[in-house]
Amino acid sequence: MSTLDSLEFDNRFTNELDGDEILLNTPRQVQGAMFSHVKPTPTSMPSLIAISDEMAEELGFTQEQLESDDFAQMVTGNLVLPGMDSFAMRYGGHQFGNWAGQLGDGRAINLGELVTPSGERRTLQLKGAGPTPYSRTADGLAVLRSSVREFLTSEAMFHLGVPTTRALAAVATGEQVLRERAFPGAVLARIGRSHVRVGTFQYFTARRDDEAIAALARYVAERHYPDSLSAQSPALALLDAVVAAQAALVAHWQSIGFIHGVMNTDNSSITGDTIDYGPCAFMDEYVPDKVFSSIDHGGRYAYSNQPHLAQWNLANLAQCLLPLIERDMHGDGASRDTASTDTVTQSVHDADTDPGRQAAVDAAQASVDAFTGLFEAAWLERFSRKLGIESPREEDASLARDLLDIMAADSADFTLTFRQLGATADVARDAFNDPDQFDAWQARWLTRVAEEARPAADRQRDMQRVNPAVIPRNHQVEAMIRSAIDENDLGPLENMLAMLADPFDERAERSFLATPPELVERVTQTFCGT
Ligand code: AMP
Ligand code: MG
Repeated sequence: MSTLDSLEFDNRFTNELDGDEILLNTPRQVQGAMFSHVKPTPTSMPSLIAISDEMAEELGFTQEQLESDDFAQMVTGNLVLPGMDSFAMRYGGHQFGNWAGQLGDGRAINLGELVTPSGERRTLQLKGAGPTPYSRTADGLAVLRSSVREFLTSEAMFHLGVPTTRALAAVATGEQVLRERAFPGAVLARIGRSHVRVGTFQYFTARRDDEAIAALARYVAERHYPDSLSAQSPALALLDAVVAAQAALVAHWQSIGFIHGVMNTDNSSITGDTIDYGPCAFMDEYVPDKVFSSIDHGGRYAYSNQPHLAQWNLANLAQCLLPLIERDMHGDGASRDTASTDTVTQSVHDADTDPGRQAAVDAAQASVDAFTGLFEAAWLERFSRKLGIESPREEDASLARDLLDIMAADSADFTLTFRQLGATADVARDAFNDPDQFDAWQARWLTRVAEEARPAADRQRDMQRVNPAVIPRNHQVEAMIRSAIDENDLGPLENMLAMLADPFDERAERSFLATPPELVERVTQTFCGT
């Protein structure tokens, strides 16, 4: 008997897909399977660092359960409940544009699919819970600094309204993990609607395993996009739905200055959620080609490139779904030779000689091309709202872009500029070295908003609902991590979590998260810290 017996687990993934029944955690060659049953590696001296009470409540944990030893043991991987059937999923992916083959899951173990009291399914996953068959040469562990960064950032993203995986709990394992030097280890218990990635499909496409792709597509559609199943081509409808979800997601990122940092195909979620927080950060001063990640030398995942790279990832998904689209459209094609996973266009060459495939390629290409329009519409909607425009028109895009251009010219703070526009524009003006340009822009803006004939107070209220007052300022995140690790002080983490739970509200005591860093405080690089 466990205090946690009331939890309901239902592993449809395990039931519907081909699993590997050998219960062995060590890295090895797994034959054919799409996931492997594994158990987390027990830890000796776990201590809870943070719990998201609200997340826990949504999942159906009672206060008593949260305070129980069983809960702490479960989120460290020491207690695996009977219905969980814990497993690691298999996926591959492109890293920085290069096909990297099988990548994981090397250090994340799904404890199981939890059915919440409201009937939703959430994957409970432990990141850093020890090796899996897919760990390659790595240790399967995570360090405290990156776990804390993910905990804080994913919770902040949730409260900003961005689709994301969430943090349930972070635990220090009490063990040291060797990286450039020894660092304290941690396990992050995170919750997702799904942890299926573009790279999950890609792995099986690379193996030319059309049956696995079909099973995976069916699983994703049944669980996340049920409407697609009744379409003429369910696979094409699935692609359309993922394209739309990713376009909306990246427009949301752009609107709050969020830089993911490693948008590799294995970090690109099939549900359009933000997943795998690594060297991510919010930018302070607006620099369109801003990069934080210490390993992104070419600026591939710079802020301004994020839409393009999301579309690149989707072209790879389209490539994977092509045999299914062809089969849906023509009743066969399942066993055709699979082309390179690079882009849909690549397949056009193969299609020259095959009209059936040509039609499927054209349809998939059109779906991926639609990203541009969907993204631009979502971008216009978000940035118009940031400017207090209720009914956006196409030309409002240039109004927003022109503001961004003068912000870039003066390195104005992204968050603060929009926030101040919604309060007193004069304060926003002060941030510009060349106020004349701002004045000219402001005159256009005021003319535009006047056309909507709304009371200024209503407009300002609406603007403050979409322009956050506080974000996880990177220099403060780094300072918080230093306190947690060097001084064992979790106060700053708790404080920041509480403040970021309500990011649109203005309160004086939070000014440290509202204020950009001084020059000497700036943190210009973040590290994967795996
Ligand atoms: P990332 O770029 O952080 O998403 O990492 C890519 C993949 O490498 C992950 O999906 C993991 O499977 C794997 N990986 C990263 N760090 C580790 C580690 N310490 N142990 C095992 N696998 C890892
Ligand atoms: Mg990853």
